[in-house]
Amino acid sequence: MPTNRQILLKSRPPGLPSAANFELVERPAPEPGDGQFVVRNRFMSLDPYMRGRMSDARSYAKPVEIGEVMTAGTVGEVTASRHKDFAVGDTVNLQGGWQEFSLSSGAGARKIDPKLAPIQTALGILGMPGMTAWCGLLEIGRPRTGETVAVSAASGAVGSVVGQIAKIKGARAVGIAGGPAKCRFVKEELGFDDCLDHRAPDLAAQLERACPNGIDVYFENVGGAVQEAVWPLLNDFARVPLCGLIAQYNDSAPRPGPNFFSILRKRINVRGFIVSDFLEKWPEARRDIAQWIGEGQMKYREDVVEGLERAPEAFIGLLQGKNFGKMLVKLV
Ligand code: NDP
Repeated sequence: MPTNRQILLKSRPPGLPSAANFELVERPAPEPGDGQFVVRNRFMSLDPYMRGRMSDARSYAKPVEIGEVMTAGTVGEVTASRHKDFAVGDTVNLQGGWQEFSLSSGAGARKIDPKLAPIQTALGILGMPGMTAWCGLLEIGRPRTGETVAVSAASGAVGSVVGQIAKIKGARAVGIAGGPAKCRFVKEELGFDDCLDHRAPDLAAQLERACPNGIDVYFENVGGAVQEAVWPLLNDFARVPLCGLIAQYNDSAPRPGPNFFSILRKRINVRGFIVSDFLEKWPEARRDIAQWIGEGQMKYREDVVEGLERAPEAFIGLLQGKNFGKMLVKLV
């Protein structure tokens, strides 16, 4: 019987997670019972939401328990099946966890056609992060031709798609990212109109110059200092799809937020969302993005580390901006 390497949550981090919060264990690979199948995971996704699952603070989703396998989206092949809809050899995307083999009842699992796109795109641009960009921007941000869309974490899995959709819809796209290499990529490869380094001490002044007509849509991925620089530039009736606040995920106490008076005076629409709020839109979103990739209008970048044992280090790096593109772990 093959060995299944798994990474468990060992303890809850008070701030930035460390390797000591995780434990690598080896167990026999699972066997399917009636109505179940086993997937040999080939790629595993690392996403910022996992920081939230490491905490037991009240949230929209249940925390991972101590001693439980860390949660993650995975993609791989069925190696054993006693399920009527999933056969040996099928390629499947599921919430398989930080492990090499996953046992599934089929709930939340989706067969994918490996001939249509590289299978790991089911975890990135054609998966949850791509859906997040499409749903947040088009359902909440609703950019109109000629408007200015600003997006933070602009070189990442979600932000890179947001700016490219904004361009496709005829808006001006201004990214904010960490460091000159990411900013260059966002402008030169992804075709944003501008991209500013959030580490620059004069970010607010640079942003004002890059957005001479103000900002109509701010796709919020990070919070913190970037949000402070963006907020004064928001126009009347601006829309703020509030997608993520990664700069604040390791905080132990809430920070003061934007002044509500500005929201009233400018009639700004700030809406927090979780991508699963828009599940009924996912097929349309996936069709659009696949078409844009096919037409050469949309690009994506992946940051892949090899081996399950490197997942904790890569995840901790993701929370510090060390990833460059969609963070993935290649398992085999
Ligand atoms: P990314 O691929 O963008 O990786 C995270 C990036 O966040 C880092 O590379 C870094 O980019 C940036 N970052 C980290 N710390 C800071 C900081 N202190 N200040 C500014 N930027 C920082 O991740 P995703 O695209 O997967 O996720 C982006 C955001 O979207 C996250 O907040 C995530 O939680 C959220 N999200 C929300 C969903 C929802 O349903 N609401 C679903 C999916 C994602 P840089 O080097 O450019 O600073």
